[in-house]
Amino acid sequence: MENGLILVNTGNGKGKTTAALGLCFRAIGHDMKVLMLSFIKNAQGTGEVRAAKLLGHNFKMVQLGRGFIRTQKGNFSEETIKNATESWEYAKQEIFSDEYDTIVLDEINILIDYGLLSVEDVISVLRNKPRRLNIVLTGRNAKDQIIEIADLVTEMKEIKHPYKKGIKARKGIEF
Ligand code: ATP
Ligand code: MG
Repeated sequence: MENGLILVNTGNGKGKTTAALGLCFRAIGHDMKVLMLSFIKNAQGTGEVRAAKLLGHNFKMVQLGRGFIRTQKGNFSEETIKNATESWEYAKQEIFSDEYDTIVLDEINILIDYGLLSVEDVISVLRNKPRRLNIVLTGRNAKDQIIEIADLVTEMKEIKHPYKKGIKARKGIEF
């Protein structure tokens, strides 16, 4: 049995989540069991959520996030803090279930960056993960400790983005 890898997609350019989805697609083709957990988005109508249903039981997607809600002072609301903690508890259960070959923790870097999850906790789970499991962590501003423990780190760099021209999120491109 091979050791699974820890992969990180970070940076300010587009493609972190889509690259992770591409990796899932590839793994499913080898009958590997794949789970993608979204820590921020809770969008049921995205193309990926719909497509996941077409791919059969080897691919499970769970939208754990509720977006971010800040209080007037700019701090995170109790609800957001609770959601982050519960999402992480759920992720840990799935990680240690040893049911999967690949798990994507989508946008988890952002929760760590915002202090909603502790980097030490995440590192300790990565250190103790089931041997065969590949874990992909996505999101901007990946912490140095995460980069250090990873086997593969890619930084997406923005050169151009249609948002800058005022072009809104598009079906099949952004969602
Ligand atoms: P994608 O999900 O399309 O692969 P991503 O995961 O790399 O993108 P995130 O940082 O998760 O990017 O951004 C979430 C959404 O915000 C994406 O749909 C992305 O296209 C959009 N986005 C990325 N860069 C910018 C930007 N500079 N301004 C506005 N929106 C952006
Ligand atoms: Mg993303």
